[in-house]
Amino acid sequence: MKVTILGSGTSHGVPMIGCRCEVCTSTNPKNYRTRPSIAVEGPAGTILVDTTPELRLQSIRTGLSHVDAVLITHTHADHIFGMDDLRRFNDLGGHDIPVFGSESVLEDVQRIYRYVFIETQAGGGKPRLKLVPLQSSMELCGLQISSFTVLHGRLEVQSYRFKDPATGKSFAYVTDVSTIPETVKHYLENLDLLILDAVRYEPHPTHFGLYQALDVIASANPASALLTHLSHHFDHDKLSSETPPHVDPAYDGQIIRL
Ligand SMILES: [Zn+2]
Ligand SMILES: [Zn+2]
Ligand SMILES: [Zn+2]
Repeated sequence: MKVTILGSGTSHGVPMIGCRCEVCTSTNPKNYRTRPSIAVEGPAGTILVDTTPELRLQSIRTGLSHVDAVLITHTHADHIFGMDDLRRFNDLGGHDIPVFGSESVLEDVQRIYRYVFIETQAGGGKPRLKLVPLQSSMELCGLQISSFTVLHGRLEVQSYRFKDPATGKSFAYVTDVSTIPETVKHYLENLDLLILDAVRYEPHPTHFGLYQALDVIASANPASALLTHLSHHFDHDKLSSETPPHVDPAYDGQIIRL
């Protein structure tokens, strides 16, 4: 299983428009963060989690040329506003792309991308998407996937756990979260990798702050953890030196093989 961090940034991205802070003006490429997304390559294909406004640039940068399925966490702009770029993957793969989401996510997608789902002039380039209601447990691209719900302020957000049955390795992607309900905490047990939201040092109403994220990591005790949805409050190298050895900030273009 190969996990690519397509984007590790918060909704504003880093650098943030009009900001001259040390991180936004840094020359360290690890401080350049596009909106949050991952690609997961399994034995039988590649799954994208979210389609950010920078999906095109992320795909070009990482050489992503094949997408078999998309899982959506929630419909905030930083997570879905690149969905039109999926049409390029339709052309490359020669097939419609299934987009998995909760019932409310699929309703939002049909409303926000109305032109995709109504009859329009023939020949116009539109993504060919197949909206599929999410199951709590699914098999996709040779991987076993569990989905579970966490809270992003008051909004329900889907998190995903992936297991490669061939190697037994597992990881979870939990972004845009401020509360992990007790009833889903078992999804975070025995992980080889946990990718977790940490937007800034200070607590935030709809995201984990650094110390809340570190508490979750300490109690879930994964073999390793990466922090994502990072804002300009974090300098990559400084944050890396402040976290335990098995916890690091993610960065755009990072590849993890499990
Ligand atoms: Zn977000
Ligand atoms: Zn800044
Ligand atoms: Zn969000």
